[in-house]
Amino acid sequence: EAFEVLGFSPAILAGIRDLGYAQPTEIQVKAAPIVLEGRDLIGASQTGTGKTAAFGMPALSKMGAPGALRCLILEPTRELAAQVVDNFDKLGKHTGLRTLLVHGGVGYEKQRKGLQQGVDIVVATPGRLLDFMQDGTVNLDTVEVLILDEVDRMLDMGFLPDVRRIVERTPRTRQTLFFSATMPAQIKGLADWALKEPASVEV
Ligand code: AMP
Repeated sequence: EAFEVLGFSPAILAGIRDLGYAQPTEIQVKAAPIVLEGRDLIGASQTGTGKTAAFGMPALSKMGAPGALRCLILEPTRELAAQVVDNFDKLGKHTGLRTLLVHGGVGYEKQRKGLQQGVDIVVATPGRLLDFMQDGTVNLDTVEVLILDEVDRMLDMGFLPDVRRIVERTPRTRQTLFFSATMPAQIKGLADWALKEPASVEV
């Protein structure tokens, strides 16, 4: 019942029911109104707290019908990206929205075909996404919600220059959600540059 009062769409509430979630976690309760209002968010939270659904439920609720690429999520590893796609596919099962996983270490053609067929949500590791931006397969002009997840791990892996190049190609009018378990100076700097008057959520 608590999910209903958070303001998610009927289709997302049906997805939550299918997943069997009984009640929202703390970060889900705190993040929902911020994301639904369209505000930027900076979240200090580990995996295991329900963080993926904390941004997934409200972001998917706002998207409505399938259309263009409107939600872009950057992850440090293929494993994390695959987990996010799995959670989004289940939460969004009743929406018709299309989510595509884009990561390195495998061939380009299958992912390129997926992008060309049209998708609403891309969950990507930075290097492979940049390849598809450079060869013109993907264009980020229609992105409305940009989610930078596990930013401290992206820093550890040397991805921050790539992340900056990707952020620069998204519209300035976007909403940005930024998650990092720790906030060293380089990450604080990236957040200050990428976010506009963010609300902070800690769990
Ligand atoms: P995450 O922190 O996003 O990696 O999620 C950790 C696990 O918790 C995943 O298996 C989610 O499907 C699950 N989960 C997320 N939200 C809830 C919830 N409200 N109730 C029960 N399980 C949840």
